[in-house]
Amino acid sequence: RPSDILDDLATAIAERDGDVGAYLSHDLESAKALADQSDLSLPLGGIPIGLKDNINAIGERCTCGSRYLENGYRAPYDATVTARLKQAGAVPFGRLNMDEFAMGSSTENSALGRTRNPHDPERIPGGSSGGSAAAVAAGTAIATLGSDTGGSIRQPASHCGVVGLKPSYGRVSRYGLVAFASSLDQIGPLTRTVEDSALLLQVIAGHDTADSTCLDAPVPDFTADLGKGVSGMKLGMPKEYFSDGIDPEVRALVEARAAKLEEAGAELVEISLPHTEHAVATYYIIAPAEASSNLSRFDGIRYGHRSSEHEDLLDLYRKSREEGFGPEVKRRILLGTYVLSSGYYDAYYSRAQKVRTLIRRDFEEAFSKVDAILSPVVPSPARKIGVNSDDPLQEYLSDIYTIAANLAGICAISVPCGAVTSAGSELPVGLQILGPHLGEAQLLQVAAAAE
Ligand code: GLN
Repeated sequence: RPSDILDDLATAIAERDGDVGAYLSHDLESAKALADQSDLSLPLGGIPIGLKDNINAIGERCTCGSRYLENGYRAPYDATVTARLKQAGAVPFGRLNMDEFAMGSSTENSALGRTRNPHDPERIPGGSSGGSAAAVAAGTAIATLGSDTGGSIRQPASHCGVVGLKPSYGRVSRYGLVAFASSLDQIGPLTRTVEDSALLLQVIAGHDTADSTCLDAPVPDFTADLGKGVSGMKLGMPKEYFSDGIDPEVRALVEARAAKLEEAGAELVEISLPHTEHAVATYYIIAPAEASSNLSRFDGIRYGHRSSEHEDLLDLYRKSREEGFGPEVKRRILLGTYVLSSGYYDAYYSRAQKVRTLIRRDFEEAFSKVDAILSPVVPSPARKIGVNSDDPLQEYLSDIYTIAANLAGICAISVPCGAVTSAGSELPVGLQILGPHLGEAQLLQVAAAAE
């Protein structure tokens, strides 16, 4: 019975989540009330699904990992993905920790708690969907949803040893996802298997009139081709993704998994994505620019934190934001308003948009020659907690392999491909597979063969 599954999960959370810290909150009673009504003949009938704490579910908290929304905000509506999960019989259960407003790659930027890697408690789970990945890895969730603006599903999936899919831009509605960078954000599943990933995508994908960027494109059967293998496919290996800066053990694991796909009948082809070196700089102009605009809604008036001491309206805005936002969020707002300001717009924002087009064209050119692209997800296994606290730039650079997919709008998935042993811990490593825009069916087919 669905309520027994929920009881089992609640027990697992009580036993194990103290060490992991994946959950910010969970409400067993209201989940059980939903589960009791769930139609078990539906595709996800009775299955609990955890949500990253930036996806609205009616009546529930939605903190975005921020002090700003910690108290007093309850979602007044369901995000489209939440509504679709419910329509498919699933039971949204549990709110998962994240970097504040999804800004980060380690979940250390959460203002509301620490999440640890279930494979080694001294290490980060990755981020920003660190709670969503850690819960699946720790067995305290069956599957979860996260959001990916520059790698935030794939990177924690890689560090935690689970499957993480970022759908193509426009494949999944963003309605009810608290916006970070609207031209890059996508919601996607974190699961134990590629098949689960396909099943969840099936439910959440498709046109939505509430999000004008959500495409009215046919949604194929994502499970239909999972067993068909990679025989005869061409898989591109971008030389820029296997060069300096990658940990040799990570590289060896990724290359070994690529060789397995070659044995299974695929042809490996060296390709070039020449603008790769500009991806981090481009992203860290565009994403903060959009964030600075999106976060202007947090003004101390409409919802969330309101400073109790203020002299006038401007002071109310200033103090509410000063008190409510953490340091990384402030850094992004400053960066974003700077690159958008008059006199600098052309030099930064406008130029970044041009480079973004070049990055997208690199992929279009590549996908005219290959069916999918193979690469690492992150240059190294999960690092220790605290290492980059004073070095945001170093942290940004670690996003090098994931952010181009968001800039180009294409789909990409992280699949576990082994582990590196370090001081007695087995640290998982992911293989990234990238596919063309709206090419999820074939992407999942390759991922299933790589699993
Ligand atoms: N690490 C990237 C950032 O901090 C990506 C985050 C994300 O995908 N939400 O912006």
